[in-house]
Amino acid sequence: MKYDYLVVGAGLFGAVFAYEAKKQGKTCLVIDKRNHIAGNVYTENVDGINVHRYGAHIFHTSDKEIWDYVNQFAEFNNYINSPVAVYKDELYNLPFNMNTFSKMWGIKTPKEAQEKIEEQRREAGITEPKNLEEQALSLAGRDVYEKLIKGYTEKQWGRPCTELPAFIIKRLPFRFIYDNNYFNDRYQGIAMGGYTKIVEKMLEGTEVKLNTDYFDFIKENPDIAGKTLFTGMIDEFYQFKLGHLEYRTVRFETEKLEMENYQGNAVVNYTDREVPYTRIIEHKHFEFGKQPVTIISREYSSEWKPGIEPYYPINDEKNNALFAKYRELSDQEENVIFGGRLGNYKYYDMDKVIRAALDLCEKELY
Ligand code: FAD
Ligand code: UDP
Repeated sequence: MKYDYLVVGAGLFGAVFAYEAKKQGKTCLVIDKRNHIAGNVYTENVDGINVHRYGAHIFHTSDKEIWDYVNQFAEFNNYINSPVAVYKDELYNLPFNMNTFSKMWGIKTPKEAQEKIEEQRREAGITEPKNLEEQALSLAGRDVYEKLIKGYTEKQWGRPCTELPAFIIKRLPFRFIYDNNYFNDRYQGIAMGGYTKIVEKMLEGTEVKLNTDYFDFIKENPDIAGKTLFTGMIDEFYQFKLGHLEYRTVRFETEKLEMENYQGNAVVNYTDREVPYTRIIEHKHFEFGKQPVTIISREYSSEWKPGIEPYYPINDEKNNALFAKYRELSDQEENVIFGGRLGNYKYYDMDKVIRAALDLCEKELY
């Protein structure tokens, strides 16, 4: 055995593990099939603008330990995510807060907003929300659901809101104060200079092989390491033998524009069904950029197919049940550990991925 661990995937999960393993005197070989490190948090500098190649990444957490942990690797700026939603020719602040309600109904006070929502909630007659639609209707009423949630969610997930789990919408704050902060977390910001640098630092002193797919590599190097940490798709690891887990993928259409400021905000969501993309990201605004040009990405969401990148696990009942079966198989592995968004088939944010990786280190390394 040449290494203690073969780490498959140079994303955040794999990089945190490799960093901690190195500190404990263990050796890792990190491989990734992409031509760069950092997985989905990869950023690249184009004309002085850090472009989030795989979608906007805003770091936010309430976990002080994780906040301190990432701050070892980068300084974070004071960016606060406050997306704007465009519905036809109307414009609303997100998340759902007094600015949204005031614009929607021409009201001013929390009491008026609460009454309006209560009235719509009563009309919908939902007591125990069983799916995303019912959850949204009972939280925000019909107007907010129809204008700001239904179209966006169905584009994003490719399924009717009645077939999606309620937890997806519970990710978003819903509040009766004038506050457009998209997150409730105590800590928030963007890694200054891009996220790639964080992963670069984590992997300093560890051997990394890019453009290397695990399934080819392991055939030729079966005894390369004592154990494998696999952060790719768990169903692919088992050659899909129990069936395919479903994922959503996103196509990013990125464009450089010869103007300083295209949309006046980093994130603008398009919430009606007719506009084919879900949102437009203007990357420079994450770091308050003043460059004479700007770079924007339109995000088109679609179902995952072999050969393209999977991004979002679809944690509905059907897929969770299939994942549980793969989990039974993986629990029997002595020398393979599964981790990350794809290995654990979980809609993890960055802070949760780091937490999960550190929990694994706790069990495995110390
Ligand atoms: P990944 O980053 O996917 O890394 C897995 C790596 O494994 C990849 O590089 C892949 O190429 C490699 N790999 C897979 N299979 C193989 C194989 N067979 N052989 C070799 N290599 C392989 N989180 C936030 O906190 N805030 C946000 O604003 C946010 N926005 C997001 C927006 C989008 C569009 C997406 C998709 C995610 C977002 N996230 C956000 C979540 C964040 O991206 C993840 O939590 C994090 O990147 C997961 O890290 P990971 O290491 O588990 O997976
Ligand atoms: N959502 C919505 N309208 C919006 C933004 C989000 O209905 O304008 C819903 C949608 O279902 C989405 C979920 O809220 O999947 C969570 O949004 P978030 O921004 O957290 O999604 P992410 O892209 O970070 O996974």
